[in-house]
Amino acid sequence: MVTVIVLLVAVAIVAFVFYWSGRYGGRAKPGTSLRRGPRSHTTARGRPKVGYDRREDAEARARLLSKRDGAPMNVYQCAVCAKWHVGHSK
Ligand SMILES: [Zn+2]
Repeated sequence: MVTVIVLLVAVAIVAFVFYWSGRYGGRAKPGTSLRRGPRSHTTARGRPKVGYDRREDAEARARLLSKRDGAPMNVYQCAVCAKWHVGHSK
C-alpha cells in the first residue's frame, strides 16, 4: 500500500514538473507576437510603441532616429491605436 502512495506522489511530481516547464520553459511569449510585423503596435520586446497624434511629429522623430542610427525609418498609422508610430522600413 505504501508503495502505491509513493508511486502516485512520484507521478504527481513528474506531471507537475512537465506542466511547469511547459508553461515557463523556453517557449516564445504568446499574445503580442501575433501582431508583430513591420507595422506593429508593439516593439520587439512586446511593449506598446510610442504613438504620435500627428504624422508630422512622428516624421520628425523618424528623421532624428534615422540620423542617429543611420538606418532608414518610416512612419505609419497604427491599426490598433490609430496613432502614428515610427518603425524601421525593413
Ligand atoms: Zn499603435
